[in-house]
Parts: sequence; structure tokens; C-alpha cells
Amino acid sequence: MPSTVYWGSPRQTQLDHAETLPAKLDLIIDRLHLRDRVKGHRVAIKLHLGANIGYSVVHPVFVRRVVQAIKDGGGDPFVTDLPYSVVDAHARGYTAETLGCPIYPSNGIDEKWVKVVPYQFRNLTEFHLGGPIAEASFLVDFAHVKGHPDAAWGGVIKNLALGCMDGQTRGAMHDVVHYEPYFHKDKCRGEAHRVAIRESCPYGAIVNDRQDPDGLHLHTYKCNQCMRCQAVAEGAFEIRPGNFAGFAQVVNLAAKVVLDSFTPGNAIFINLATNITPVCDCFGFTGMNILPDAGIFGSDDIVAVEQATLDALGRSPVAEENLPAMMEIVTREGHPFQQIHGPYKDPYAMLAHAESLGMGCRQYELVDVLPLKTPDFKQVNYIKTT
Ligand code: SF4
Repeated sequence: MPSTVYWGSPRQTQLDHAETLPAKLDLIIDRLHLRDRVKGHRVAIKLHLGANIGYSVVHPVFVRRVVQAIKDGGGDPFVTDLPYSVVDAHARGYTAETLGCPIYPSNGIDEKWVKVVPYQFRNLTEFHLGGPIAEASFLVDFAHVKGHPDAAWGGVIKNLALGCMDGQTRGAMHDVVHYEPYFHKDKCRGEAHRVAIRESCPYGAIVNDRQDPDGLHLHTYKCNQCMRCQAVAEGAFEIRPGNFAGFAQVVNLAAKVVLDSFTPGNAIFINLATNITPVCDCFGFTGMNILPDAGIFGSDDIVAVEQATLDALGRSPVAEENLPAMMEIVTREGHPFQQIHGPYKDPYAMLAHAESLGMGCRQYELVDVLPLKTPDFKQVNYIKTT
């Protein structure tokens, strides 16, 4: 049975504030019955508060509406994100005064307030879930949708996966891409060959391995799988789909750990798909939009809301003229996020894996909370007066 996803279009019929996205967020909150569900709950509102001078994060105008709805319903809300984003969040407009509730680091001031959850996946043996998240009883997962250099994109799943874990877990999660060996010394013809492989990448994605002076290290986040290195490597260095897929999978696993800490039904998920930039808000800047705004999506189902968001964004071609000059489209196949970050970073495969974990359903029914009306333009007869 499909899950319901409520959608607020970025388009308006009239020049009326009631038809704009913050007002449509109110309608989504109503449809999700948020007020009726939070009485007596300590509600974690997980945001990405961004970094440095990035300004494409979720605007406080939106957050404040969620906070007020929770208070109206008798809940006790707090906004949370990683300590490094919280410490200067005021520089991007986030304060207790603008949001209407406190802002707490998601794993304590020094990233030591965590709950250890044993889990075996590649190099990773445990997740360190942030204490304030683990101790909350209701979750509002509110994400700004954008591209991401390792996962291809980020929405509500990635918002939970990395932003609710401590630094040790985040490091281990990023390292899963190196678990399957990709540099084969037995096939490398010596130092000149090793250097030639390293220098063949125009993006600097291949570097010396800091752990091994004779090795090579792949920055998967910089790699768009253009395959130039493969012509030089002759089997000594592989660009393998499994390495790239590993990151999306560990993101799903981490998000599931977060969700499992809440009673089923005690979470809602909201994607704000505006200002779609090529990379994550943790880069600390805002680039040009590479896809048109797709609006705001809300659901009780984390997978369905991601699928609906991806589908909506997938209907438009990449605004290639808005990409940084150093970003190159190497394929015109697949989702626009895949075209930007490479064919092995498949956002739909990520959702298929999330569904296989039982996190939600990719089938959805999209409900427009305020459909556009077709204006009744009367025929205008131009009358010449002179
Ligand atoms: S596939 Fe292309 S981007 Fe990736 S490491 Fe090789 S040369 Fe660099």
C-alpha cells in the first residue's frame, strides 16, 4: 500500500502569502496531525544548521512554524545538529529567539554524550548515537535537499545519518568506501606508474595514502567516475561500484539506528526542496541552483518522502551553466544528482536499500495541499484609441 506524501508546490496561483511555502508547510503540519501527536513529548527537531557563510539552509521562518505547532500541541521542542554547526548557528540566523526554542548539540558539546549501538558493517562495528536524540521521544526530521559529493544527494535520510552521530562514527562511516581494496600493488609497475595513476585524475581524487607511502587513496567524494584513470591504471587501480554504494548503505543504516530509537509513529519527515545546490550545506557556502525549486514534501514515511522528492527533482535537466567550472557532467543517464556526481552514486539505489531495511515504502500517493487554480483570463480585445 502506498504511503501518503503531502506536497506544497513552489508555484502560486495568486500573489498571496497564503500560497507560499511557509503557509503550505502549515498545511502539511495539519495533514500530518503534528499537534495531536506531541503532547507531553520531548521533540527533537533535527536540522542541518549549515556552516560558515552558507545561506541555503532551512530558513528560520520555516523552523519557527514547526516549533510553534509543537508548542501548540503541548510538546517540548528543541532544535539540534552537530556541535560545529550549533556553535555559530546564530551567524546564519538561528537563535533561540528566532526559532522559539533552544538549540542543542546533537551529541553534547564535546561529542561525548552518546549511546553506543553495536553494528557490524564493513569497517564499522558500532554507531555512537547522539544522547539528546536518543533521549527525545518524538522526532521532526526537517532537511534542506541538495546534492552531496558522496551520496549524490541529501534529504531527510542523510540529515539523520551523519548529523545524529559523533565524530568517531562519522569518520568510520566515510571510511566504508575504502573497505574493498582498489589499489593493487601487485599490478602496479613501480613508482612511475603509481604517480601516473595519481596524476591522471583531473579532480585530485587520487592522492598518496597517508598510511602507506607506496599506496594510493581515492577521495570518492571528488570522483565522478569519469574513468580517465582506468586508461592509465591497467588494472592496478579500480573504480568499483561497491565502494561508492557502501557510503549510501551506511547512511541508511545510521538513519535506521536513529529511527529505531523512537517508538514507531513518533516521527515525521519534511524535505524542503529549494535552493538545490551541488553539494552539502556543511561545505559552508551556497552555490548556484542546479535544479529548479520543487517545493516542500512531508510524510510519516521517510522513504516515501525521499522518493517523491527525487522524482520531482528528476523531471528537470541539470542547469549545467550553474555548475562550478570544475564540475563536469560525465553521463546524461540517470537522475540529475547522478549526472553531477557520477553513475555509481545512484540515489534510487540508495532508496531501494532503505526499503529493503524496512525503513519505509518507495510507493507513494502525492497529495498537493493547495493545488493551483487555472485563472479564467477573459479574452482581451485591444482597442486602439489614437
Ligand atoms: S574515475 Fe575520474 S574522477 Fe574518479 S579517480 Fe578516476 S580520473 Fe579521477
